[in-house]
Amino acid sequence: MNYVYLDNAATTPVDPRVIEVINTHLKETYGNASSLHNIGEKANRVLEQSRATISSLLNAEKDDIIFTSSGTESDNMAIKGVARANKKRGKHIIISSIEHHAVENPCKELENQGYNLTYLPVDEFGFIDLEDLKETITDNTILISIMFANNEIGTIEPIKEIGEIAKDHNILFHTDAVQAFGKLPIDVNDLNIDLLSASAHKLYGPKGVGLLYLRNEGIKKGVGKYCKPLMEGGGHERGMRPSTENVPGIAGFAKAVEIAKMEMTQEIERLTNIRDYIINQVLKKIDDCYLNGHPSKRLSGNINLGFKYIEGESLVLSLDMEGIGASTGSACSSQSLEPSHVLIAIGLKPEEAHGSLRLSLGRFNDKSDANYLLEKLPPIVKRLRDMSPLKGEKDD
Ligand SMILES: *Cc1c(COP(=O)(O)O)cnc(C)c1O
Repeated sequence: MNYVYLDNAATTPVDPRVIEVINTHLKETYGNASSLHNIGEKANRVLEQSRATISSLLNAEKDDIIFTSSGTESDNMAIKGVARANKKRGKHIIISSIEHHAVENPCKELENQGYNLTYLPVDEFGFIDLEDLKETITDNTILISIMFANNEIGTIEPIKEIGEIAKDHNILFHTDAVQAFGKLPIDVNDLNIDLLSASAHKLYGPKGVGLLYLRNEGIKKGVGKYCKPLMEGGGHERGMRPSTENVPGIAGFAKAVEIAKMEMTQEIERLTNIRDYIINQVLKKIDDCYLNGHPSKRLSGNINLGFKYIEGESLVLSLDMEGIGASTGSACSSQSLEPSHVLIAIGLKPEEAHGSLRLSLGRFNDKSDANYLLEKLPPIVKRLRDMSPLKGEKDD
């Protein structure tokens, strides 16, 4: 049986064109990019070409891209690095209440260390309020970190407006763009972004490769000027991220970016069509079901549905038995029984948040996957509801 993978927000399959590039470089480009000899120099050329390709997708300066091991590392470096470098200026940081744990948890750790955090509330769609943001800023605010697009409900935040507010107040602006990078046009200059996190494995690239965009002043004016490295070691990546670069993985990341750049416009349109087709059909075929997040200001591949009277976990397991891979929300919290903090933040009750299903579409999905899902989902929902202890409430 063909498996229909609808969990592309958790991670994506690696594009065969990317695999080919990685394999070639694993074999041929084994040098240490810091070595002076020919083999090292060759690795360095691949590394710098990859940096140039990737920076062009953001309209960034090539030297402002720092390679890391993951989106999580980039988020940690942005948050803790800025906090440590600026603690004399102030200890106030503003984030949203729907950030990924990779941003939220470093902030909680900073709170333990005496920093002041503001968690901006969001409305029913997951948008922060720009007036709220302005009112929250103080003389001690050193960083605003708001995600580009949410991993659970797909909401795309007003990044340009946030960037303008940050710039007007002379505050650094970081965005976790792991879900948006390569899926939406991003120009760091137009959007006034100072720091940005991305990860290759959410974009049909390899796992274990990420990047942090760090606007040039930080590097040109000297290491640690406004963002300190997380680790001490060698002088790699302009002194910001020690350790021998993963050149084959980074070359694969660059190939993934090249493909994304080429195909982005058509891909957004293609996925938006499939997304809206699934949403409309599910809402039509299944009662007591609703869409979480905004109807249109969402990632083209994101669907998040709430089903009354049943648990998202049972839905995911039943879909898996039919050969469909989905998620209850965020893969990172699926091991815990806590309801999703994102769904709670948009106003769902805990029992409603537990009945959510995230379907995230990607490059290798097509209309026939949608039709297969639409054939399998309604009978599964019916069967689970027939067994549900919560069903009695439905009949009252
Ligand atoms: C997946 C994800 C991360 C973490 O990226 P990793 O490369 O898996 O560490 C961070 N933020 C968001 C929004 C994500 O979706």
